[in-house]
Amino acid sequence: MSSLFADIVGQQLAVSLLTRSLEQGASHAYLFSGPSGVGKGQAASAFAAGLTCADGGCGVCNTCRRVLEGLHPDVDVIAPEGSFIRKEQITEINTHAVYRPYEARAKVYVFLEADSFNAEAANAFLKTLEDPPGHVHFVLVTDHPERLLPTIVSRCQPVMFSAVPVAVVAADLSDRCGLPEADALVLAHVAGGDLAYARELATSESARRQREQLLDLARDIPSAGLMDTQVALDEIMASVEGRSKERAQDLEQELARRLEWAGDARTRSWLTKRHDENVKRQQRRQLTQGLRTVTRVFAGWYRDLALVCVGADRAVLNQDRLEELRALALPGGALRYTQAVTAARKAQERLRYNVDARCAIGDMFRSIKEALTQWPRL
Ligand SMILES: [Zn+2]
Repeated sequence: MSSLFADIVGQQLAVSLLTRSLEQGASHAYLFSGPSGVGKGQAASAFAAGLTCADGGCGVCNTCRRVLEGLHPDVDVIAPEGSFIRKEQITEINTHAVYRPYEARAKVYVFLEADSFNAEAANAFLKTLEDPPGHVHFVLVTDHPERLLPTIVSRCQPVMFSAVPVAVVAADLSDRCGLPEADALVLAHVAGGDLAYARELATSESARRQREQLLDLARDIPSAGLMDTQVALDEIMASVEGRSKERAQDLEQELARRLEWAGDARTRSWLTKRHDENVKRQQRRQLTQGLRTVTRVFAGWYRDLALVCVGADRAVLNQDRLEELRALALPGGALRYTQAVTAARKAQERLRYNVDARCAIGDMFRSIKEALTQWPRL
């Protein structure tokens, strides 16, 4: 059983609760909450395997494998279409939930970004949540539980995930990716408790390159001219979209491999359809996360400058750039750097609501320049 949650690191409380649920009989609805990048989505898919597998989640059988790959007919993953989870998506679930599972012992619906139900969808969902068919389980996953209707929250068993301590992230990177301890510690700091981002940095050359580019840009943007800013904006958008396409190509190859094993034409067509949905969702997610990375790296850079201003060098995230930060930080600048951090966080918030990405990032550049250029020269 423990192998099912082996990839979930630093979440003993959540994992033991889920393991107990699988052993003693599961509730109909769970709410996974906690910061982004700590493994909630992965845990939801492992838990879904546990709920459907005849052995309670062996992790190796055909059912478990297909659930973990997102290709089991009795496990549905629902994500926002555009900015919201819409009523039509819920109506479809309400219609299908009443039927017996195709082949497993239960049906599981996993909602990613469950805080993005629009009002109509939330009300439609409540009806099923109040009186779910016996064979159905719902797993709601969110970074922002406070945005859900209290009537939905109160009907779910809470499963809380927490930020992963830097030392735990570092140990994971050493174990899993074979990184030397010192490098692992740097990346763990950089990712600030976001295990997914830390692993991405540890394993992907293009992720590391992108981070360097973004840090250079954060450094240069206060003094950049209008043209340079436009070029920078184009570069950022191209790099985020490029990484999202890379991911889609990986998924295409995965599909090709799976189709080799698919027997009849019906299975192949079902696999292809499910796969296409997967690709669309993952591509969208990649894009959202890419944009999040942009605002996060920017916020981290100016936060670091503010920290260096007040002599708190040890709390700096970008430890590998500490010398540069020390040389750049202007004395007495903590407040202005903090304003720049606020601008980056504001952009992050706007992107959540599907504001045009170019526009949100462009505004962020402007606000940062405003905060940092009217500097009294020494
Ligand atoms: Zn199994």
